[in-house]
Amino acid sequence: MLELRGIDAGYAGTPVLRGVDLQVPPSSVVALLGPNGAGKTTLLRVASGLLKPTAGRMTIDDQDVTGRSPHQLVARGVCHVPEGRGIFPTLTVRDNLVLQSVPGREDEALERAVSAFPRLGERMEQVARTMSGGEQQMLALARAYVQNPRFVLLDEVSMGLAPKVVDEIFDFLALLASSGASLLLVEQYVSRALQVADYVFLMNRGRVAFAGEPSELDTDLLAEQYVGAR
Ligand code: ATP
Repeated sequence: MLELRGIDAGYAGTPVLRGVDLQVPPSSVVALLGPNGAGKTTLLRVASGLLKPTAGRMTIDDQDVTGRSPHQLVARGVCHVPEGRGIFPTLTVRDNLVLQSVPGREDEALERAVSAFPRLGERMEQVARTMSGGEQQMLALARAYVQNPRFVLLDEVSMGLAPKVVDEIFDFLALLASSGASLLLVEQYVSRALQVADYVFLMNRGRVAFAGEPSELDTDLLAEQYVGAR
C-alpha cells in the first residue's frame, strides 16, 4: 500500500496541497479527479518524489519514504508517467525502452513493450518525436510497463488523443492493473475513470473533497466541483 497522510506541498512558498490523505491499496485502480488547478498533478509529483512535501508523511508498506528522491522511489516500485509523457524525444523507440530496462534484460523488456503495444514493434528505429501523439503516449506507457512497477502514477495519459487511441490506452490500463500493479490515475474522462476505478478521490483547491468507492460518489457533488466534466 502506498499512503499519503496530511500532505502539504506547494511551489516557492505558495501552498497548493493542504492536509491531503490518500491511499493506493495493492492491486487497485484509484482515480484522482477534480477541476483544473485542484492539485492533482502536484499530488502525483509528491508521490513520485519530484516535489518534497512541507508537511505530512508518505509510506510504502508502512515504511516511511517521505522526502525520498524519484530514483529511490523508482527502486521501491513507483513509476510516474508525467503530463507531457516524459519520453526522450530525440531517441529512438528502442533506446527509450532500453533505458528503462534492467541491464542484460533488454530483449525481455522490448518483448514486453511490444506485447502491450504491437505498433511499437513496427517503429523500433523511429525517433520518438516523429511519432503521432498516440504512439508517443503508448511509448510512455510501455516505458512504465517494462519496469514491472508496483505503483503507476498516470497524469492525463489520454489527453488530446483520438477516441480509438483512448480505447487502446484504457485497454492497456486494464492489462497493467491485471498484471498486479496499482494505478493512481489522473484523468480528464471522468466517466471512463470511474468505470475502471476501485476507489476515487475527488480534489478541489488542494483538499480531498470526497474519498470512497465510485458507487458512493454523489453525482451532484461531482457536477458541482467539476466544471466541464465528461
Ligand atoms: P490541471 O487539471 O489543470 O492539470 P491539477 O489539478 O493537476 O490541474 P496542479 O497542476 O497540481 O493542478 O496545480 C495546482 C496549483 O498549483 C495551480 O494553482 C497551479 O497554478 C499551481 N502550480 C502548478 N505548478 C506550479 C509551478 N511549477 N509553480 C508554481 N505554481 C504551480
